[in-house]
Amino acid sequence: MSSSHPLQEKTWIGTAVSQGVAHAVVHVLKDHFDEPDEDTIEPGTEAHQMERLHAALAVTAREIEALQRVMAGEHGSSESEIFETHLLILQDSTILKQTEKTVREQQVCVDWAYYKLMCKHMDALRGLSDTYLRERFLDVKDVTHRVMRHLRGELLDHPMFDEPVIVVAHDLTPSDTVQLDRSKVLGFALETGSAVSHAAIIARSLALPAVVRLHGICEDLHSGDTVLLDGEGGLLIQNPSAETLARYRLREEQAERREDVFQMERHQPSLTRCGTAICVGANAEFIEEMKIVADSGAEEVGLFRTEFLHLENPDATEDQLATAYGKVIKSQAPKRVVFRTLDLGGDKVDERLSVDPEPNPFLGWRGIRLSLGRLDLFKRQLRALLRAAVHGRVGIMFPMVSGVQEVLEAKAVLNDCADELTAEGIDVPDEIEIGAMIEIPSAALTADLIAAEVDFLSLGTNDLTQYTIAVDRLNDRVAKLYQTTHPAVLRLISMSVKAARTAGIRVGMCGEMASDLALTPLMIGLGLNELSVATTQIARVKYAVRRLEVQECEALAQAVQACSCPTEIRALSRAVADRNYPELFE
Ligand code: PEP
Ligand code: MG
Repeated sequence: MSSSHPLQEKTWIGTAVSQGVAHAVVHVLKDHFDEPDEDTIEPGTEAHQMERLHAALAVTAREIEALQRVMAGEHGSSESEIFETHLLILQDSTILKQTEKTVREQQVCVDWAYYKLMCKHMDALRGLSDTYLRERFLDVKDVTHRVMRHLRGELLDHPMFDEPVIVVAHDLTPSDTVQLDRSKVLGFALETGSAVSHAAIIARSLALPAVVRLHGICEDLHSGDTVLLDGEGGLLIQNPSAETLARYRLREEQAERREDVFQMERHQPSLTRCGTAICVGANAEFIEEMKIVADSGAEEVGLFRTEFLHLENPDATEDQLATAYGKVIKSQAPKRVVFRTLDLGGDKVDERLSVDPEPNPFLGWRGIRLSLGRLDLFKRQLRALLRAAVHGRVGIMFPMVSGVQEVLEAKAVLNDCADELTAEGIDVPDEIEIGAMIEIPSAALTADLIAAEVDFLSLGTNDLTQYTIAVDRLNDRVAKLYQTTHPAVLRLISMSVKAARTAGIRVGMCGEMASDLALTPLMIGLGLNELSVATTQIARVKYAVRRLEVQECEALAQAVQACSCPTEIRALSRAVADRNYPELFE
């Protein structure tokens, strides 16, 4: 008989970073891996210990097989082969025998016996000189962590991917995100993060609600708990009551009606009231987004972050990459797709490439630095992009350049790749556009030198802001200082726009600032030609552009030069926005 007492409603307040509402059970991803203790066992319970291990192995196998099916469906069978290795590790009879022996002889719990044995294997692999074999330690680590969590019962009731879930975690790194079965994820509720952390960016790309800075949820919530996640109000409500649910349903209906008005215009050209074209493009990370992008009203893909495809399958061959990029290009043709070459490093870590942790990853081996240091990877990617470019209009853009020298080096590698392909008798289109991201102050300060070497510039304000003001984009404690309207950031943007204009090339913005509707007037006033934003924001940004006059925006940009306060600058731009499209803020 079920209890007549409804469960107590409990609310956490965090920061909303991606709109929408979801009502579902949660799946708690524990990121801290606590090593098991060396607990002794009662004599005679050895068999029970081994039964626990067998149960955990069986659930892990089911979980891995589910992942394998998803991967095979999305990317073909070869990408899912990695999971074959994981299943083989799981089923290794020597490991089982040795674990049993330790349990029996040392009278210790199976958690400790299994974990210690797997650690020995990881250490042995890490010490090998062969790169391929050394990297296999990650496979053993992945399998071990899964088994340990099932042994502790953390996931046993709700193995991943069986039903739609709201993912609860401390933080989600890009490599965590690529491992999720995203078709079953309804939202993200995270303890840390910010509007420009990659989990938030991905949530917006996938049109999922997300709330960050929900302190304590990983401790308090358990997989299987029911919650309502409010991506507008920044709330997480555990055991929402019938009244709460009814209130949200009503709100959702009203929001949908309002959204319909903006969506109706989404395929109209993105011209200001006075007829100036401001190209509104989409930012994207996954192939599965391409259908939504094509229907979003986006006039191009202004930023395709290729690191995510890489993290999904780090061993992809040139052929596989060319096919994947080709799918993206074909899905948008004849519209342009701008591929950003790998921006690995920082928080987008491929553990295989950075086995030694860096003391300061955001100032370390990241973006174009890593690509120029790993020409094997870089050339594989560039050759695949050049081959795929026959399917449509393509831009190739280099991330994290600190000055023109890196642009010249990267272009030289690209030219080598084109020459090699031509010599092999493979077609390489001539009209590929080359761009550089301006996201480091040194690049903005020398934008004139860079602009002379490329076809377009794209302002990556997520990083430009963090590097200019020296505020970590992911750090809660300094979040208040992370202000895109800081005069220093605006001066660097303005400097880059002027350099591009003088060189006669296009200049866009693909950082999250581009989708900040209060700042659209200022962006147009500063002279940007393109705004690339999350797919969910396309209709709204276009709606805003279509209601603005360039003259009014330029006057605003002029007035802002006399302001020293970021909040005041934002307020001035918001006032222009309010005059022209107040309905977007209702
Ligand atoms: C940026 O820095 O603004 C950007 C678009 O790149 P990412 O957010 O991927 O670092
Ligand atoms: Mg960046």
